[in-house]
Amino acid sequence: MDILYRSTRSDSTPITASQAILRGFPEDGGLYVPTFVPALETGLADLAKMDYRGVAYEVMRLLLSDYTEKELKTCIDSAYDCKFDTEEIAPLRKSGDAWYLELFHGPTIAFKDMALSILPYLMTTAAKKNGSGREIVILTATSGDTGKAALAGFAGVQGTKIMVFYPKHGVSSIQERQMVTTVGANTRVIGINGNFDDAQTSVKNLFTDKALVEEMAQHGMQFSSANSINIGRLTPQIVYYVYAYTRLLADGVIKEGDPVNYVVPTGNFGNILAAYYAKRMGLPVGKLICASNSNKVLFDFFTTGEYDRNRKFVLTSSPSMDILISSNLERLIYHISGDDAEKCAAFMKELKETGRYCITPEMRAQLGDFAVM
Ligand SMILES: *Cc1c(COP(=O)(O)O)cnc(C)c1O
Repeated sequence: MDILYRSTRSDSTPITASQAILRGFPEDGGLYVPTFVPALETGLADLAKMDYRGVAYEVMRLLLSDYTEKELKTCIDSAYDCKFDTEEIAPLRKSGDAWYLELFHGPTIAFKDMALSILPYLMTTAAKKNGSGREIVILTATSGDTGKAALAGFAGVQGTKIMVFYPKHGVSSIQERQMVTTVGANTRVIGINGNFDDAQTSVKNLFTDKALVEEMAQHGMQFSSANSINIGRLTPQIVYYVYAYTRLLADGVIKEGDPVNYVVPTGNFGNILAAYYAKRMGLPVGKLICASNSNKVLFDFFTTGEYDRNRKFVLTSSPSMDILISSNLERLIYHISGDDAEKCAAFMKELKETGRYCITPEMRAQLGDFAVM
């Protein structure tokens, strides 16, 4: 049976994974979520014997169930190849009492490579499967790392164009240079006056501009998104949590079933949400520890149950975490409200109008998987 995807904000008809990847997000402004979260089928001990590509297939086939085995394996093999500087793809290293999953071995050194190296393949495969025949125009807002990783992923990919918007004074000079020096006839990079939230909101407005979308269609083009709101980015991120666990298992550091805590530096809540889905798929995870910098909306949310973006935006040395509207949190809000799109939509409306919302005690009670730092 196919896993279908529906909006966090309305009860519109669910669509397949490939359709959701192609569209990016639903017209109602919500995000696509799986109608149910599948359990891992392959045992952890068996996964421990597989390489990164093998684990990737066993995890992703469950969530992207309308891709054929051949399609998905081609995407995985095209993404996780010698573009990465190690065959392990994501080596796990010990230092002191902690283990570090090295997600920086991809072409741009950003951990975003883990997902953005496969997204273009998932997307072009989705376009073929769904017979759209239209050129895909990727719009991406970036606080630094996503931009370069997305540009590297899509540069030169047939049937796609990519436009990246970044806050002119909100990324590091290395990141800016990485982006503006990208080669590729299908790439564009634009610095905006404003911060990341402004860039993200403006991109969202373009996506939902009906007249613009229609004009694009008349010219044989359609928008899609390479931001972490696309399930084509979220799904590949679930893989490395499972991979990390199974490496510990393979090395005899843990026994099957032992819980492992994951600390995740968090901005748009994509990476840690992938860990949450990994846990819901049956990975033995103890706590998901959400790490924030001075823009600590998420720290405060998990501590108090109130999300409040009405505060000063601080530019820090970790610009990828300088975010006051964590888009992917909407998916968690949807799930902890009992997969209730109406409730979720009400919270998001409140956020848009007042910049804050407060979840119910029942919802807070379901945040036990999370801790903060
Ligand atoms: C993207 C990024 C983050 C934030 O990840 P989210 O998925 O947006 O929470 C944190 N650190 C670095 C270095 C990043 O590139």
